[in-house]
Amino acid sequence: MRHSSIVRFLVIVLALLCAASAAAQIPTPEAFFGFKMGTDGKLADWPSIEKYFRTVAAASDRVELVDVGATTEGRRIIAAIISAPENITNLETLQIDNHLLADPRRLASDREALAIRSGARPVVAIGASIHASEIGATQSANELLYELATSVDARTESILRDLIIILLPSLNPDGHTMVVDWYRKMQGTPFDGAPMPWLYHRYVGHDINRDAFMMNMQENRTLAHFFTRVWHPQVFLAMHQMGSDGPRMFVPPNDDPIDVNHDPLIWRTAALLGSAMAMELEGQNKSGVISNAMYDYYWPGYEDSAPLGRNTVCVLTEVASVRLASPIDVAAKDLRGAGRGLPEYRPQINFPNPWPGGTWRLRDIVDYDLIAMRGLLNAASHYKDTLLLNFYTMGRRAIARGASEGPFAYLIRPEQHDTAAAAKLVSLLADGGVDVMQAQEPFKAGPVVYDAGTVIVPMAQPFRAYAKSLLEVQHYPVKRSSPQAPPDRPYDVAGWTLPIQMGVRVDQVDAAFDVPVMSKIDRLVTQPRYVVGFPKPDFYVIEGRGNTGAIAANRLLAAGLEPEWTAGSVTVDGSTYQPGTLVVRASARSSKRALPVLADLARQLGIRVAGARGRMPAAQAVHAPRVGLYRPWSDAIDEGWTRWLLEQHEFVFTTLRDAEIRRGDLGAALDVIILPSMPAARIKDGNRAGSLPDEYVGGLGDAGLASLKAFADAGGTLVALDASAALVIDALKLPVKNVVYDLPPDKFFCPGSLLRLDLDSSTPLGFGMQPETAAFFSFGSAWDVSGAPEARVIARYGKKDILLSGWIEGERVIAGLPAVIEMPAGRGRAILVGFRAQHRGQSHATFRLLFNAIFTSPRLR
Ligand SMILES: [Zn+2]
Repeated sequence: MRHSSIVRFLVIVLALLCAASAAAQIPTPEAFFGFKMGTDGKLADWPSIEKYFRTVAAASDRVELVDVGATTEGRRIIAAIISAPENITNLETLQIDNHLLADPRRLASDREALAIRSGARPVVAIGASIHASEIGATQSANELLYELATSVDARTESILRDLIIILLPSLNPDGHTMVVDWYRKMQGTPFDGAPMPWLYHRYVGHDINRDAFMMNMQENRTLAHFFTRVWHPQVFLAMHQMGSDGPRMFVPPNDDPIDVNHDPLIWRTAALLGSAMAMELEGQNKSGVISNAMYDYYWPGYEDSAPLGRNTVCVLTEVASVRLASPIDVAAKDLRGAGRGLPEYRPQINFPNPWPGGTWRLRDIVDYDLIAMRGLLNAASHYKDTLLLNFYTMGRRAIARGASEGPFAYLIRPEQHDTAAAAKLVSLLADGGVDVMQAQEPFKAGPVVYDAGTVIVPMAQPFRAYAKSLLEVQHYPVKRSSPQAPPDRPYDVAGWTLPIQMGVRVDQVDAAFDVPVMSKIDRLVTQPRYVVGFPKPDFYVIEGRGNTGAIAANRLLAAGLEPEWTAGSVTVDGSTYQPGTLVVRASARSSKRALPVLADLARQLGIRVAGARGRMPAAQAVHAPRVGLYRPWSDAIDEGWTRWLLEQHEFVFTTLRDAEIRRGDLGAALDVIILPSMPAARIKDGNRAGSLPDEYVGGLGDAGLASLKAFADAGGTLVALDASAALVIDALKLPVKNVVYDLPPDKFFCPGSLLRLDLDSSTPLGFGMQPETAAFFSFGSAWDVSGAPEARVIARYGKKDILLSGWIEGERVIAGLPAVIEMPAGRGRAILVGFRAQHRGQSHATFRLLFNAIFTSPRLR
């Protein structure tokens, strides 16, 4: 006995010595970066952080560095996998266990799951600063890495033994780079700590955290792949920052409403882990911590809400911000409540220890983040077995629910108005970890016969909640603090149903049906087509439906083939094409040039192309005007989305700044100007003098408004998307008004929902679209055109049953009113779109409104 305890003692001493010598080779962040993390005015930049993570991984047997994947600008998202050395050498087995527990269908029994659990380790992923200006978490990640790689205390040892920690020091390295560059450039000037006057991502800035299910951005595709295919976290902590004049830190549980598709264990576990974080913070005298407030998880588009549907417990933290890395002073009298969950700034059950005010600095953020992460890791280590069992249980319960109650499946037919939208829907589900199947034979669901090739999304699968939330209609659980109080606004939007928003026909199956022979797919392959019809035609007919039709038009224009649009429908070779079909005149010479382009269109886009003989149907030219997209000196997210969308659909355009508009003579270089959705005052006034360097100050001003009017007078087209319509109405003195402008919420309220839209698809502005479609409406406009007989109405809100998904109060106020209008102005025109036609790259059903506004604009010179 005595002998063996001496041996054990020696082994422990040896282990400590080894750990100490490894630790000796690992530089502290302070030694490596040259300053302590969170020091006023100092920020670790991305190349240094990458290098630090590499250095620690090379020196530590507790750390393995992995390449998660690409960013939009070609940087790499990295992660440190941190665990005990015996786990690190056994990662492959632990990864297999992780995947088996994620999908109970791969296990024979609960007993097998329990057997796997005994060797498995919960995966706790920590993602820092997806919002790059919320930079504290990225700085603290370096310190957490160092602590976990070097500490030899019992708590750290048990955390490492029990858990696999995946630490992502930045979920947005492109943005981190921009913000650090900007901060350093402004340092020592009067604008120290000022916000960056552009987006902290090439396209979408803050909305990089509103793209988790749509995955339009590379970062979101990268993370979804990592979290569904590589590792499947049981817990995901997303670290953010918030405003400065309220609580110091938010930890879960979140606020209502919840998405009821998720297993209740999701909410219970988040509350447990959040409370563990809050307790750790209180224990270390960190005041101002709030929970059960402010942030809800109703909407699945955040980086930290999408994984809920995949049975990952998501934990959100928000810490009060500073001015990037520069400290701020917050006087006690300026501290205020946080709205939902904290009406007044005073102690209450979810906020027992208010922060008293004072100086607040980056190091405070780093400290709060580090303590909170410690609290989370302690709790996850303590509840390790429960986390693993619950993870498996949630998957098993989801499968059982999908097999025993409706909906049993969602079906996507092979024939769709816009095949590209249907293909996108299939790929975003598959990339989100959902099992998507394709029938290999015809089958019946209820009375309906479905063709072979129909896509089946069965609900009996572990990530049922994820798929169901995206595909079903939302009925927003309206909440008020009292019956007389105005409705609580959702933190994000109230309805998003993708089939409706994307214009894809998807059938919900509410009764059990005999599942046909089917195979799993991850893409809907575009079926290549060939040019059919007469070999020596008088003209070619090219299908122009949907957003694919816009790409086809742009390729024809780029090839110099001068496409036109038919006014009516056309029948060629027994097939009928709807109004707005593209036609290209053919002669013996031009056919030689056209045919390869047309063959490529048919093959690559899968659209119908036919050679036709006889008289060409009535048609008008599709234009390739010179397009300017307005871009203010601010983080205008809608501008970024619009720019991205135009690029994706192969439009040629230039960016237009305030100064260029103020200068005037816009018609010399442009035929169309697109104003993304922004409040009119923001466009007109821009940044306040003295808030930023002169080059970023001021908006369009009166001079800019006059230039826009002169542009329209000379024949130009102004396209106003959603909120910017108010500016165009003002600039052109249009005799129309928005009937819901400034209506109180008890009269009209619609925070991000899908509304019925009746559209004239026989007019060029509506070409290629479906006449009964949907608008994504978020505090948008409905037009009163009674004083404007010259207004042409392109689309109206439905006359009744306007709400298709989400939440609207007072729908009769907008029933049947114009939603999209074309107004003559001088020799030109304005197109006012009352809703988000291009909402976050999601509303495929209405992208064409923007595209058609461009195609219908003739060149001025
Ligand atoms: Zn944030």
